Amino acid sequence: MTAGASSTDEALRQRLASIRARIDDASRRVGRTPEDVVLVGASKRQDEARLRSAFDAGLVVFGENRVQEAITKSARLPIAIDWHLIGPLQSNKAKAAARLFSTIHSLDRAKIVHTLDREAGRLGRRLYGFLQVDLGDEATKHGFAVDGLVETVEPFARLEHLDVVGLMAIPPYEESLDEARQWFGRLRSLRDELALRPAWRDRPGGWPGALSMGMSHDFEVAIEEGATHVRVGSALFGPRLS
Ligand SMILES: *Cc1c(COP(=O)(O)O)cnc(C)c1O
Repeated sequence: MTAGASSTDEALRQRLASIRARIDDASRRVGRTPEDVVLVGASKRQDEARLRSAFDAGLVVFGENRVQEAITKSARLPIAIDWHLIGPLQSNKAKAAARLFSTIHSLDRAKIVHTLDREAGRLGRRLYGFLQVDLGDEATKHGFAVDGLVETVEPFARLEHLDVVGLMAIPPYEESLDEARQWFGRLRSLRDELALRPAWRDRPGGWPGALSMGMSHDFEVAIEEGATHVRVGSALFGPRLS
């Protein structure tokens, strides 16, 4: 084996290439531009060698579920990585999260939205975020309820330091991709509803209405339904450490 090129590197390179090709195909099937889809490598409980290999192969955005795990990893990995938080955030971790992450996909309650806006202000930086929606109304899932969503989230349309760019969901697991597709369609409809409201529609520069949805087994249908960010873990990095 030549120096620098390990089997981890080669495996990651191939899986990344294959996922990018599938993103391209899914985008083209519905007349979308593949560049409009951001691949977020869901890297929780993956060892650093795999993250490094993925970065070396061209992956830039990594999504972590826990603040402390991300801090530990980021200290040993390239500075050019764009860290996103995709797991639930406790208020007492908001300051640390605002330092490390550019984007929080898991804004699941009003309090954390305001806390992050304030922390970003203190740090003099801009943060990006997605409002997580509890699509399936599941007791075990985080997120804003679908019922009354449009009214509930209106105050977040114009925060000073936290730019809410769109909606995110982790729908109930569906073996059937047709069922998964319906959940993704529902999130898109909610996004469309928001986009018509003056608070969002009339934002200076407009509102991107981004959609963070789709994981390893269903990211292609998510793209067909409008996903702008797909969070892919095991299909990219392999099985997670226990
Ligand atoms: C783990 C995780 C993913 C990726 O899951 P895979 O099925 O491994 O692709 C995506 N989103 C969130 C929020 C996760 O926690």
